[in-house]
Amino acid sequence: MSGVKRVYAFGGGQTEGNKDMKFVLGGKGANLAEMATMGLPVPPGFTISCQACMEYYNATPPAFPEGLAEEIASHVAALEAKMAKKLGDDGDPLLVSVRSGSAFSMPGMMDTVLNLGLNDRSVEGLITKSGNERFAWDSYRRFIQMFSKVVLDAEGDLFENAITSMIHSRGVKVDTELTAADMRELVDTFKGIVAEHVSVEEFPLLAVDGVVAFPQDPTVQLRLAIEAVFRSWMNDRAVLYRKMERIADDLGTAVNVQAMVFGNMGETSGTGVGFTRNAADGTKEFYGDFLTNAQGEDVVAGIRQTRPIAELPEVLPEAGNELYAVFDILEKAYRDMCDIEFTIQEGKLWMLQTRIGKRTARAALKIAVDMVAEGMITREEAVLRINPAQLDQLMHPQFDTKATYDVIAKGLNASPGAAVGEVVFSANDAVEAAAEGRSVILVRWETNPDDLHGMDAAEGILTSHGGKTSHAAVIARGMGKPAVCGADALQIDAKAKRAAIAGTKIVLNEGDVISIDGTTGIVVLGAVNLVKPEMTGDIDTVLAWADEFRTMGVRANADTPDDAALGRKFGAAGIGLTRTEHMFLGERKDIIQDFILASAEGVRREALDKLLDVQTSDFLGIFEAMDGLPVTVRLLDPPLHEFLDSPRELEVEITREECEGVPAEKLAARRRLLAQIDSMSEANPMLGLRGCRLGIMYPELYALQVQAITRAACELKKQGKDPRPEIMIPLVSVRAELATLREETEKVVAAITAETGVQIDIPIGTMIELPRAAVCADEIGEVADFFSFGTNDLTQTTFGFSRDDIESKFLPKYLERKILPRNPFETIDGGVAKLVEMGARLGRGTNPKLKVGVCGEHGGDPESVGIFFGIGLDYVSCSPYRVPVARLAAAQASLAGKTKASDNR
Ligand code: PEP
Ligand code: MG
Repeated sequence: MSGVKRVYAFGGGQTEGNKDMKFVLGGKGANLAEMATMGLPVPPGFTISCQACMEYYNATPPAFPEGLAEEIASHVAALEAKMAKKLGDDGDPLLVSVRSGSAFSMPGMMDTVLNLGLNDRSVEGLITKSGNERFAWDSYRRFIQMFSKVVLDAEGDLFENAITSMIHSRGVKVDTELTAADMRELVDTFKGIVAEHVSVEEFPLLAVDGVVAFPQDPTVQLRLAIEAVFRSWMNDRAVLYRKMERIADDLGTAVNVQAMVFGNMGETSGTGVGFTRNAADGTKEFYGDFLTNAQGEDVVAGIRQTRPIAELPEVLPEAGNELYAVFDILEKAYRDMCDIEFTIQEGKLWMLQTRIGKRTARAALKIAVDMVAEGMITREEAVLRINPAQLDQLMHPQFDTKATYDVIAKGLNASPGAAVGEVVFSANDAVEAAAEGRSVILVRWETNPDDLHGMDAAEGILTSHGGKTSHAAVIARGMGKPAVCGADALQIDAKAKRAAIAGTKIVLNEGDVISIDGTTGIVVLGAVNLVKPEMTGDIDTVLAWADEFRTMGVRANADTPDDAALGRKFGAAGIGLTRTEHMFLGERKDIIQDFILASAEGVRREALDKLLDVQTSDFLGIFEAMDGLPVTVRLLDPPLHEFLDSPRELEVEITREECEGVPAEKLAARRRLLAQIDSMSEANPMLGLRGCRLGIMYPELYALQVQAITRAACELKKQGKDPRPEIMIPLVSVRAELATLREETEKVVAAITAETGVQIDIPIGTMIELPRAAVCADEIGEVADFFSFGTNDLTQTTFGFSRDDIESKFLPKYLERKILPRNPFETIDGGVAKLVEMGARLGRGTNPKLKVGVCGEHGGDPESVGIFFGIGLDYVSCSPYRVPVARLAAAQASLAGKTKASDNR
C-alpha cells in the first residue's frame, strides 16, 4: 500500500486542500477546498487525487489501487458524521455526487454520477425526509439512468426511449408531468433494461440469477462510480480534447465525492451557472442563467427556458443576495473573473464549483484593462493574462458562434479567419470574378507562385494538398487571408471546374457558395454568417503595456508596400524579410524567362534592364512605407525553374500543336525550349540551384537586385527620406559563399553611391537556414552584419522533412503515435532551436556586433517566440497579422523569464 495521501476532505469544518493544489485535487477539487476554507457554503465531501487515477492506470490491466478502498471508506464515515446522515439509510439517507475534475478544465469530456446512494430502501428514506414522493422516485430513476450509462456502459437511448413511451402512453407532453407512480414504474423499467442489456461477463460481481442486477449496496455503487470516472480519463473524446489542447495524458483526473444538494425540491429551490463579469464582452456585471426547481443538467441541456441571473434576487431574495456577495468575495480572492455553479435547496445557497472563467478575446482584453483601472491587478499581470493565440482571433473575421452549419470537409487550419464565397478553380477565374464584384474562394490542388494574383483576388483559399508551410499556407498568412489546406477529401477536377467530396455525394461546381474557417480548418457548404470582432481601444492599451515590458524586437515579413504599411500599423519595428521572388511574377515572369533562357547576350541584357526598372520601383514603395525603419531585402532564393513553364504541360501542348499541324520549324523551337527547361530540372530542387547558389551562378541577377535596392534608397535619401535597407543573402552554407557575394554586393553599392553622390550604409547579412551554416556560424559571422534564421528551411534540412509534403503524408501518424510532440514547422523543435542557439552564440563569438533574428514562420508562434527570447535573439519577424501576437508573446517571455532552448525537447 502506498504511504502517500490520496484522499482529501473538504467542507464541514475540516478542509485539507487549497486552490494551488490543482495537480493533486484537479481544478474542481482544489477550488472547492479553497471556497470551503473561505467559509463559503460548500456541501462537504472529499477528493480522490489525480495521482490515484494514474496509479489505477499504471497497473496492467488497470486496477483500483491497493488500500484506496480503505482510505475512501474512512472518508465516507467522516462525511457521514459531518452530515449526520448515512449512505443507503432508510430514514434520512446521505446521497453523493461523484464528479471528475482534472488539473486543466476539460468541459463535458469526462463522467459524472449524481444521486449516488439511492436504492430500494433509501428511496423510502428520501420520501420520508423530503415529504415529496415524486421527487424521491424521480431522483432514483435519474440515478439508475446515469449510473447505467456511465458505469455499466448501457445505451443512453434505451432509457430515453422508455421515458418517451411513458409520456405517450400517459397522454402528457413532458416528463415533468409524469407522476410519482410513473417515476416508480420507470425505476422498475430501468432495472429491467439493465438486466437485459448489461453484460454479465463485464460485471460478474453484479450477477444475480444469471443477469446483472442494479447494485443496491452504496459501497459497491461508489466504488464502481469512482472507477468509471477514472476510466473516463481515457475515453475517446477526453483523449482527443487533450490532444487538441496539448494537455498531458499522464496527469489523471481527480474524483470529487460530495454530499448532494437538490435544486429540484420545489419553487424555493433552483440551480444555475454564472460569471462574475460578462464572459462575452467583459462588461462588469453578473452574467449567467438559472432555473428554479431544477437540477444542474437542466440548465445546460436547454430543455427549459432559463432566466438571467439578474432576476435571481427578485425570485429568491435571500439566496440571490448571498450569491452576489459570494461573486464579489470570489473575484477579490482570485483576482480574476470567476465562473461558478450553484444550487439553492429550499432557499439555502450552496456553491458547487468555481474556477477562473473562460472568456472571448474581446472580454479578456476588457477585463484585464478594467482590473488594472480598478487596482485589482498590475499591468504586468494584465499582459500575462492575455492568451496570444486568442489575440489572433481579433485580427480576422470568424464564423458567427450562433450559426449552425454542416461541415463537408476538414483540412489544416493553415491561415486564421473565415471567408465565404463562390468556388473558383483557377487564379484567373478568381481575378475575373472579383473584378465583377463577386466574392470567391480559390480551390486548388495546391497553389504555386503562378496563383498569386488569384489568391490576392480571392476571399479565402482552400487546397486539397500541402501543409501549414505549403505555398498556399505561407502566402495566405502573409496576406492575412483565411486558408484551409490539405483538405484531402476534395477530389478536384480543375479542368471540369468541379470537386467531389470523397465519402459523400456532394460535388462542388464553379459558382457554388462555400464557407471556410481557417482558424479551425473546416469547410462548409453554403454561406455562414461572419462576424468581424471589433478592434477596441483595449487591444491598443494592452499592446502598449506589452511594448514597455518587451525587450525583443518584432518585425514583419512583407513583400509589398501595402503589407509593409500594415506591418507598421500593427506595430512592427521594421521588415525582417522581403521575399523578392514574388516580384518576378505576372508579366515580369516573361522578362525573367527571357533572361534565363536566352543565349544571346543582347536579349539577356535587355531583360535585366527591364527588371532593374521594375525592381527599383518595388523597393521605392517598400522603403517609403517603412521610412526610418530597417527593411531586410532577401536576394532571389527559389530554384529558377519555378519561373519557367511546367515541362509536363509544355510537352502536352507540343503534342497538341503537332496534331494540329503547326509548322515543323516552330515545333523544333518549342522542342528546344522543352529540352532547355528539362535540362534545368533537378531531382531535389529544394536542395538544388537556389539561394546564394543562384548568385554565384548568375552574378548579374544579384547585381541587378542590389542595384535596384541601392538606387531606390539613394533616390529616397535625395528626397530627404530615411530609407534603411539591409541586404540578405539566402541559403549560405560556407563562409566563402557569403564572402564572395558580399564583395560583389559592396562593389555594386559603391558604384551606385559614387554615381548618385549619395552616401548610404547598407548592412549585408545572411540567412541561417542550413545546419552547416549554424554549426559554422563563427566563420560565417566574420563576414556578416546580421543573421536571420530561416527556420522553415532549417527545420526542413535538420530533419530532412519536406516542408511541402509532411503534413499531408506522415506527420499526422507521427503526432498520433507521439513520435513528435507537435508539428515542428509550427512550433520550433528543440533540436532546431539548439542549432539556432548555437548559430547565434558562435556568430556573436566572432562578431560581437552581429544582429540576430528569425524570419521563418516560427517568428509568429507564441511558444517559439518565448524560446527565441530565451536564446537571446534581437528580434522575430512574422507576417503582419501576427505582429500583435508576437509583441504580446515577446512581452510575456520577458515577464516570465527566460525559456531555455533545451526545455522544449
Ligand atoms: C525560411 O526558410 O525560414 C524562410 C524564411 O525562407 P522561405 O520560407 O522563403 O524559404
Ligand atoms: Mg528559406
